[in-house]
Amino acid sequence: MSDTIMHTADKVMAATYKRFPIVLERGEGCLVWDTDGRRYVDFVAGIAVCSLGHAHPRIAETVANQAGKLVHVSNLYYTIPQTELAQMLVEKCFADRVFFCNSGAEANEAAIKLARKYFKDQGKTERFHIISMEKSFHGRTMATLSATGQDKIRKGFDPVLGGFSFVPFNDIDALKAVVDEQTCAVMLEPIQGEGGIRCPDSGYLQQVRQICDKNGALMILDEIQTGMGRTGKLFAHEHYGVTPDIMTLAKAMANGLPIGAMLATEKVAAAFGFGAHATTFGGTPLVSSAAIETLKIMDEEKLPGRAEEVGAYFTDALVRLKQKHTCIAQVRGKGLLLGIQLNEPADGLVPVLMEKGFLVNCVQGDTLRFTPPLIIDKKEIDELVHCLDEVLK
Ligand SMILES: *Cc1c(COP(=O)(O)O)cnc(C)c1O
Repeated sequence: MSDTIMHTADKVMAATYKRFPIVLERGEGCLVWDTDGRRYVDFVAGIAVCSLGHAHPRIAETVANQAGKLVHVSNLYYTIPQTELAQMLVEKCFADRVFFCNSGAEANEAAIKLARKYFKDQGKTERFHIISMEKSFHGRTMATLSATGQDKIRKGFDPVLGGFSFVPFNDIDALKAVVDEQTCAVMLEPIQGEGGIRCPDSGYLQQVRQICDKNGALMILDEIQTGMGRTGKLFAHEHYGVTPDIMTLAKAMANGLPIGAMLATEKVAAAFGFGAHATTFGGTPLVSSAAIETLKIMDEEKLPGRAEEVGAYFTDALVRLKQKHTCIAQVRGKGLLLGIQLNEPADGLVPVLMEKGFLVNCVQGDTLRFTPPLIIDKKEIDELVHCLDEVLK
């Protein structure tokens, strides 16, 4: 059965993903099962998406109820779930307004468009340059890959969009040297996810904010991976004493249903007037109801705090592992967005760990990334760390 599925998939689907040879069929909490009945502890969680775990009964019930009521109309009309969700989000952060879309790339696309339009509306037509970071990841659409500081993502799609340039993350002098009166925005992830779980140095994000303010540029934070509690706060920028002008969210917002959001201050959001931007599906009643329930559960169960506590436990265990294994170069991350960088390629470990019942993934070729559901138990962490200990020997 699984062989037939894999064979067919490889024949009829675009070959953009090199999939691991298992067919996943169902999940519960931090566990998933394949069609051969094998069980895996999920330290990927759909890449920082299913933060409440799989098949959460309240999400399942919410989605079922809403599906029986109203799935989609159009953004030509008001709906209750979308309004409620926007209200909840603006209450929880710096932003005054939300634009809903369907993915991370679309949220960043909206952020880029908004930032450019903000200055165009003021007659500052030269001010369209966006500076982002080397090793960043902002998505796969033409604009977002143009903003992504990784050659491998842009390769083959030239010419990319003009007006984007890159500086090394955590290098404040490099940023200072390029920000000028043509800079529209500085766009960055508070912690680089795909780039290898790279945290900002102390004071870095505050200095970025200062440079933006001094030069009249906007600060865009891509919290698509870091947001929604994963790092120990609802939004990662809360750790660092800064607020952006624009923030993007997606991944964990609705625990697996596709939704993205671009949030901005009133002043900046004003550039998105009637007709300036649109999407058919953005913030449908169905996904919005799932996102509302996700936020409620995160609040009730204090999951950001749990991510912080369990993340510290996980980090300690990984640091102890590093002391034992010289092949581990660094342990990085915050909360439950963690990675270990090896002194050697790490991608070969992924199938080995899978064979032993753990889903993890590898970024940048040498870093194992751990983004389990925020409900992960210490016991499950112990099991993974024990397995890593064996495997690294
Ligand atoms: C995943 C991710 C994106 C892209 O999101 P998609 O939903 O895959 O388009 C953008 N930025 C960051 C930081 C991400 O982690």
